Amino acid sequence: MVGARLDLLLITHLPDVRYLCGFTGSAAVLGVTPNSATLFTDGRYREQARSEAFGVKVVVGKGSALTGAGAWVGRFTANISGQGEAGSIRVGCQFDSVTVAIRDRVRAFLPTSAKLVDASLLVPGLRLIKDADELRCIRKAVKLGDDLLGVALDAIRAGVRESEVAAAMEYEARKRGAEGMSFPSIVAAGARSALPHGVASGARIPRRGFVVLDFGVILAGYCSDMTRTVHLGRTTAESRNWYGAVQAAQQAALEAVKPGASCGEVDEAARSVLRKAKLAEFFTHSTGHGVGLEIHEMPRIGTRQEAVLEPGMVITIEPGIYVPGRGGIRIEDMVAVTRKGCEILTRSPKELIELSR
Ligand code: ZN
Ligand code: ZN
Repeated sequence: MVGARLDLLLITHLPDVRYLCGFTGSAAVLGVTPNSATLFTDGRYREQARSEAFGVKVVVGKGSALTGAGAWVGRFTANISGQGEAGSIRVGCQFDSVTVAIRDRVRAFLPTSAKLVDASLLVPGLRLIKDADELRCIRKAVKLGDDLLGVALDAIRAGVRESEVAAAMEYEARKRGAEGMSFPSIVAAGARSALPHGVASGARIPRRGFVVLDFGVILAGYCSDMTRTVHLGRTTAESRNWYGAVQAAQQAALEAVKPGASCGEVDEAARSVLRKAKLAEFFTHSTGHGVGLEIHEMPRIGTRQEAVLEPGMVITIEPGIYVPGRGGIRIEDMVAVTRKGCEILTRSPKELIELSR
């Protein structure tokens, strides 16, 4: 806040609220001043806020969290104005995660002399580097993800619906304590494997072809994310060639992950392998993304991204190729950047698995 010259900061993005004070409810605004923090919520969360939130004062208003925070902001800024500092008040708000309507409501709470500034990246910037506790949670979520792959492989056979495979994984995840899946599980078989985000559908798995499995769990608030691609029925020389190229691209990117490397360099490591294999045109997304309390966080591992990796960041490495009408392959691991290089958190094997059933 000092760096951004903020007198007041309003945190409205719920994962940021959770990160800063532990509150997990669905209605909250955290108001931060240079020497205090106040959590505003509504009556539904009276008990939960008192038991979860730490280091903050809890205010349960009659109206919405935002109304409560707004009245407080009005009083706070009027108080500073009263001290003769009017015109210099700067209030940070997370423009990226509120609607224009809410931004306008916040502005209406402020005296005309105060300036509302975008502070969207302040807390996500802190969240980039995971501490030991966060890494512990992430490791557990990744481990559960690894275990679910076996459940999926048992469920896959020709004629079974993609959604049944997803259901088997998701049931096991819930039985093992997951709060939910990180995102709608992707089970994309045969020609559907060429859809990078082929969410499990009612389609039946064909006798032959690739099956892309991309899924993750939320455990103690933290997300996991992994992808494996298996082949049902006998592979062809071409499908083995495609798989080998994606595996080599993924390995090259993993080897590029170290402190000081730019995200663009890591992306290029994967992309150049696929370029040499004349498959780069089928690699239609970024190489990876940060993961933590949210499934997609900073940094983005994409073309020409200049952000530099630092120890404590947790990212995915997930190159893939998608040949329309034919099939697709993606391999994704979660990786923690360490002081010397990286630790691959996902343990599932990556050799091409040929299932015959
Ligand atoms: Zn994924
Ligand atoms: Zn991912």
